[in-house]
This record gives sequence, structure tokens and C-alpha cells, in this order.
Amino acid sequence: MDEVIMKCGHIGYGRTAEGKPYCLVCDCEEVADEKDVIDLTGRKAKCSSCGHITNSSWSLPFFSPREEFNQSGEYDSYYCGCGGWD
Ligand SMILES: [Zn+2]
Ligand SMILES: [Zn+2]
Repeated sequence: MDEVIMKCGHIGYGRTAEGKPYCLVCDCEEVADEKDVIDLTGRKAKCSSCGHITNSSWSLPFFSPREEFNQSGEYDSYYCGCGGWD
């Protein structure tokens, strides 16, 4: 199944009863327009908890692009799971 990027910036892993993509993180059903999808090529994401840095990807847990700070030295954020998932 293709990954569907939602307006919130998460991947719509869930499916509603009607089969529409659904964001499990923030409970929304709004799919992003293609023009809203940010190109993550060359971008890095930083774990908001431990600061671990990895390549940005829509499939990172809790990935959140830093669109407003799109300058060198700024990172997208995600959560690597370092503190557990509860
Ligand atoms: Zn979301
Ligand atoms: Zn971490």
C-alpha cells in the first residue's frame, strides 16, 4: 500500500470504515495535497527526546517537518523511541 501523507505531516497508516486514510497520531482524515508535500531530500530529523539525528523520512515515528525553519542548522523532529512508547 502506498504511504499517504496527511495534512498534519504524518503518514495516514489508519483506514476509516470507508477505507479512507486516517492519521493515528492526531486523529485527522485530511490528506495533504501533492503541492503541500515537502521534499525531504537531504534533510535531517532530530529526536525531540535524546537529540539523535537521522535522515528525515515521513515514516519516522512522530515525524514533524520544520517547514518554517527551513534553513541550515535546523532539523525536522521525530521520536526515536529512546524513552519508550508509553
Ligand atoms: Zn497527524
Ligand atoms: Zn531519542
